[in-house]
Amino acid sequence: ISVWSAVPQGPPDPILGVTEAFKADPNPRKINLGVGAYRDENGKPYILPSVSTAEASFVGEADKEYLPITGLASFTSAAAKLAYGSDSAPLSQGAVAVTQSISGTGALRIGGAFLARFYPTSKVIYLPTPSWGNHTPIFRDSGLEVKQYRYFDKSTVGLDWAGMLADIRAMPQGSIVLLHACAHNPTGVDPTQEQWKELSNIVKEGKLFPFFDMAYQGFASGDIARDAFAPRHFVSEGHQIALCQSFAKNMGLYGERVGLFSLVTSDKEEKARVESQLKILIRPLYSNPPVHGARIAGSILNDPALYKQWEGEVKGMANRIISMRTTLYDLLTSTHKTPGDWAHIKSQIGMFSFTGLTQPQTEALASKRSVYMTKDGRISMAGLNGGNVEYFAESVDGAVK
Ligand code: PLP
Repeated sequence: ISVWSAVPQGPPDPILGVTEAFKADPNPRKINLGVGAYRDENGKPYILPSVSTAEASFVGEADKEYLPITGLASFTSAAAKLAYGSDSAPLSQGAVAVTQSISGTGALRIGGAFLARFYPTSKVIYLPTPSWGNHTPIFRDSGLEVKQYRYFDKSTVGLDWAGMLADIRAMPQGSIVLLHACAHNPTGVDPTQEQWKELSNIVKEGKLFPFFDMAYQGFASGDIARDAFAPRHFVSEGHQIALCQSFAKNMGLYGERVGLFSLVTSDKEEKARVESQLKILIRPLYSNPPVHGARIAGSILNDPALYKQWEGEVKGMANRIISMRTTLYDLLTSTHKTPGDWAHIKSQIGMFSFTGLTQPQTEALASKRSVYMTKDGRISMAGLNGGNVEYFAESVDGAVK
């Protein structure tokens, strides 16, 4: 008998399962809207020209030595500046503890583990309902207890502002609250700047700890500073935030695993203590982070000309997605007169849209039209393009009527 005979079969990943079904489908018109990765107007993966240029500048020349535990310093300091802003007070005071991370996922996991070990008042983190599917297992495996707060209102396909406020107000003092900095995944619904200001006050009143996940900076509006409004505002209001960054989407560095985890501390001396503990936490996990992607991101962020080029490319990706939202909205409402209010398609932000399609409708779309999305009706807008958006709109119209 094998040692592993009692290991139970686990369920497949809900998102990667969609891609498998898509791959097995022979229909040439098939569309995959499940995966959260940008596609160009031909439906192909996109290598940013700024990334190619940065990579070409060091390939074959840079060595393959280990990085320090907290990563490539030229990258981590530039990445922190990108998030907090070059005028950030704690940054200029040297009070932000930073470490390179294995993309956004790794940042969340280090953050969860650090809070589980050192956050003094609570071991409970509250997530919005719904949230990115990986948040719950990440924080649970980090040693935190996971609870929920209301976020999305199915009836309006928008923010449940009243429910969100009520739930955050009711959290026990000192709890940890996870906030999506921008382009909330999976709903595409974000608070307004006015609402963020109110949230900052309520989080302060409840002595809550704000833990920001920023996986889409630049990708939401096309504007780096605008997308960082929430964490920057919280910091300017005196909150000591935790922040997770990913360069998967905004630089298209998905498989390179480039990210940053940071914590705002009170001064240089405290920052040094916190960073020493981040190192102690990371060393037995993976020793030190990968170097290649950090070199690419660091080269872009530290070279003014390349940075400017990259900003334009991020804007280009965001704008293509935004134009697909308009096209899809127009096709559904004007061309097909599809029943329902589709305004949320245009008002939602970032890579994803929660269409409001039901599970039976998403199943019919897959089986009859070879159109694939997650069961909750979430579509990746980046999977739509000039060549397939009409077929998609016609398919949605058929599924709804
Ligand atoms: N957080 C959110 C909300 C996400 O949507 C994602 C990716 O889909 C991530 C974090 C982390 O992604 P990665 O680990 O690829 O940077």
